Amino acid sequence: MERLQDRVAVITGAGSGIGLATARRFAAEGARVVCVDVSAEAGEAVAQEVNGEFVACDVADEQAVRELFDGVVRRHGRVDIAFNNAGISPPDDDSILVTGLDAWERVLRVNTTSVFFCCKYAIPHMQRQGKGSIINTASFVALLGAATSQIAYTASKGGVLAMTRELGVQFAREGIRINALCPGPVATPLLMDLFAKDPERAARRLVHVPMGRFAEPAEIAAAVAFLASDDASFMTASQFVVDGGITGAYVTPL
Ligand code: NAD
Repeated sequence: MERLQDRVAVITGAGSGIGLATARRFAAEGARVVCVDVSAEAGEAVAQEVNGEFVACDVADEQAVRELFDGVVRRHGRVDIAFNNAGISPPDDDSILVTGLDAWERVLRVNTTSVFFCCKYAIPHMQRQGKGSIINTASFVALLGAATSQIAYTASKGGVLAMTRELGVQFAREGIRINALCPGPVATPLLMDLFAKDPERAARRLVHVPMGRFAEPAEIAAAVAFLASDDASFMTASQFVVDGGITGAYVTPL
């Protein structure tokens, strides 16, 4: 399948997890992939693997994001796809009772303000092209509450979801599709390491997932490739849920 043949695709947070799996999937479908990360080591490795380009950029820095998209258009002539995916989930973001302003502001800046910057500086190029697909990574926690709270993270993803819906509506008649991706929990190395050490914690979470397992990054990447491609040509302003059934469940079988 080469649905993304010669499309120029920017992926933020391409060095790890969902971003890394998506860089591989986009490249397999024929895209020219611009791999963006703050980590030069991880970003360069993936760029080399997918025969793409690495750009070092902190997505929380407005000027850097502006230069990122202007630079991509200068070098490649266009930007067809922006997967605004970089995000953080630090340990000092916890219950509202113990989470400080510093953690709150840091998480909102990296997870939400970054998406504001990426859309702000990608959209004008897509307007000139009369076409483009933007996918912003939210989360299932933008749709469901958790008693084991990460309050800033949850608020940050709710912001991504609402912003995406509004942008999707605003630019729908200009050929630009803007969708939010809501993944369920993904089996990233960090998560699996945590749960390998504490099987009881894993079991407490898995009981909520009808499929009884976490997603593989490649399963999320497949959904991103669909949203990026013309197969999703009638989809915009949507919340695309890829969660193993969590949001549909009241009681799940054991
Ligand atoms: P990850 O930690 O494996 O990868 C994130 C990448 O983003 C890293 O390579 C990191 O260096 C990069 N990054 C972090 N801050 C950055 C910044 N300021 N500028 C540029 N790059 C930066 O994360 P992941 O699990 O693949 O998550 C990717 C996205 O999916 C995040 O937005 C996350 O909130 C969301 N998400 C993850 C899960 C999950 O269970 N893993 C579930 C739902 C949503």
